[in-house]
Amino acid sequence: MPALLTRNLKKKFPTAVRGEGVWLWDASGKKYLDLAGSAAVNFIGHGVKEIGEAMAAQAADLEFVHSSQFITEAAENLARQVLDFAGENFQGGAVYFTCGGSEAVETALKLARQYQVEIGQESRYQIVSRRQSYHGSTFGAMVVSGNQKRRRIYLPMLREFPRVGIPYCYRCDYGCDNCAQKYADELESLLAKHSQEVAAFIFEPVSGATLGAAVPPRGYLQRVAEICRAHGVLLLADEVMTGFGRTGRNFAVEHWDVTPDILIAGKGIASGYAPLGAVIASRRVVEALAGGSGVFTHGFTYNAHPVAVAAGAAVLRRMEQEKLVKTANSQHGAAGTAMRENLQRLRDLPSVGDVRGLGLLWGVEFVKEKSRKQPFAPGLNFAGKVAERVASRGVLTYPMQGCVDGDSGDHLLLAPPAIISPNEIRWAVDELAGAIEEATK
Ligand code: PLP
Repeated sequence: MPALLTRNLKKKFPTAVRGEGVWLWDASGKKYLDLAGSAAVNFIGHGVKEIGEAMAAQAADLEFVHSSQFITEAAENLARQVLDFAGENFQGGAVYFTCGGSEAVETALKLARQYQVEIGQESRYQIVSRRQSYHGSTFGAMVVSGNQKRRRIYLPMLREFPRVGIPYCYRCDYGCDNCAQKYADELESLLAKHSQEVAAFIFEPVSGATLGAAVPPRGYLQRVAEICRAHGVLLLADEVMTGFGRTGRNFAVEHWDVTPDILIAGKGIASGYAPLGAVIASRRVVEALAGGSGVFTHGFTYNAHPVAVAAGAAVLRRMEQEKLVKTANSQHGAAGTAMRENLQRLRDLPSVGDVRGLGLLWGVEFVKEKSRKQPFAPGLNFAGKVAERVASRGVLTYPMQGCVDGDSGDHLLLAPPAIISPNEIRWAVDELAGAIEEATK
């Protein structure tokens, strides 16, 4: 038995040894094109030397201080840059750095509750979320997540809050008949009943892991934002997967001109070079604390770790120098456009039901029977099979199950680094098509 407690004790994982650009190598010398960006993490490419150098320089000067005693210039500078990156709506706000997405979600949930207490709304403690969502693996994040597979065995340990439906155009509950309005109405009727108990509403602007890059219908997020404002409920955009350029805008909410009260980031903020997440709070939220108790009742030992924030600053610099957010855009950018165009070819395959996404975040949903959108039996693990076959051809993808009802439904999530070339995309999609055909036989 390996000493490392891995994700799957029945599986033998290859040992990774090196990364460069869009490529990863294992210890046997096998080379893989990282079409998943690991898990929608890597945006600037692997093996960028200047990031490691920036981290080493910070570690050599000052490896760590505790946030109860000091702040650091590295953290303050990155916070300022992140506020600028988040746009006008966040001017005058503040950033809390964590070690990843789940910690950032936990922080945002607590910040939302504390905001309500500070403004005299003590009765508000519930966080409304959406069914078939994913917000992380810690307990608070699991409470608001809808991903059945990832929470089922822990249910007796979780506190439950209300949930509403989530737009999923391929299998729309309302047959896509005015569905933006109808999904938003679900939130409106829930808040009409519980408004005095609800502190915040949390959502992924483009659904990530659970539904596989399901893009909301036009008008839905704007309406949701209006409803939250009208009911005094904070709007928390979980952009752990979609933020920092992944969808071809700095943050995905910008596609719909939605301005959340809190943005939650992870993954792409440091492109995987360091464990880093962030809670980006708008001025209104920060002022409530500053003008009230003044104390955020929350803390992690590794909050704003100097080496992690140094990695974040170097990654942001690289993204801006290389104009990677623009490249990722699926309407105007080289990589985003090539992904959108090439993936359409997969629609011709009998077991591909849907191809959906935005920028460099795409989902491919598999079906056993296309005309009825019938999913494969979950026990077949069809997505896992495709992922295995395409990995043996040298392409990495992110397989998931449960998009239909929590158990059945297979999809792959694709989220390559933005430095991927159109030729690399073409080759990887050809290999993926071949692997899907093999798995279907
Ligand atoms: N929120 C979203 C939308 C995610 O996709 C994820 C991870 O996939 C998380 C939160 C949790 O982030 P982490 O795995 O870094 O804790």
